Amino acid sequence: MPKSSKHNKLKGWKELPPGAVVQEPGSSQDYQTGNWNPDVEVQWIPETCINCNLCWTVCPDEAIIVDEQGNMKGVNQDFCKKCGLCVDICPTKSKSLKMVKKQKEDI
Ligand code: SF4
Ligand code: SF4
Repeated sequence: MPKSSKHNKLKGWKELPPGAVVQEPGSSQDYQTGNWNPDVEVQWIPETCINCNLCWTVCPDEAIIVDEQGNMKGVNQDFCKKCGLCVDICPTKSKSLKMVKKQKEDI
């Protein structure tokens, strides 16, 4: 049975562009993902931080700021997409990283 002309126009799976795939590793520096969720921000509480750097290890956007000596220095809000991984992994009892709602005047 002959295929319809409509059927013949469909692309095969090899011709389709890849979806939801990061094709260029290291591209996070090019995209300021901090504006993905402008209503919240990750707040660092230095008084309780034990400087374990676990947050730096899990951050997918290099948004955790660490100095040359390996000391935690804060969160770069321009690149933090508020995924919450650092908050989840922070081992201090009171959590030295918190996801907080931004004040209206900050938005
Ligand atoms: S929430 Fe934490 S882990 Fe996620 S992007 Fe922001 S700093 Fe990185
Ligand atoms: S995971 Fe928590 S305790 Fe460890 S460096 Fe980050 S903020 Fe500090």
